[in-house]
Amino acid sequence: MIAKREYLWFNTDERVEFINITNQVQEIVDKSGIKEGLCLVNAMHITASVFINDAESGLHRDFKHWLEELAPHEPVSQYDHNTFEDNADAHLKRQIMGREVVVAITEGQLDFGPWEQIFYGEFDGQRDKRVLVKVLGE
Ligand code: ZN
Repeated sequence: MIAKREYLWFNTDERVEFINITNQVQEIVDKSGIKEGLCLVNAMHITASVFINDAESGLHRDFKHWLEELAPHEPVSQYDHNTFEDNADAHLKRQIMGREVVVAITEGQLDFGPWEQIFYGEFDGQRDKRVLVKVLGE
């Protein structure tokens, strides 16, 4: 079995941002030489997500509005977590959008359903953060 591990780094301009990382993940799969296996992609921070959905800008705005309704950033004083920080909403948003995805690799390609793409979801940005990509197979 082959195992390959690599990080993707992010430092977003906005506090909340979604970044399509599908091509970067496929490049790591390509470099691994693995033709059949699994690819794990996970956020290494508890205020960021990795998720799979459609690469459609309207849907991304809908996600942001929906998350802001569920867990508004302001007023920061509404959260018990915000004694030394102001990112309680980011923890909650990350929890609902998920930590990781696992994608099958078939004939060297990420084996997606129709319209599936992988996104990094940032909820407390403007700092260095990373995503782990681990590819296993043969
Ligand atoms: Zn926190």
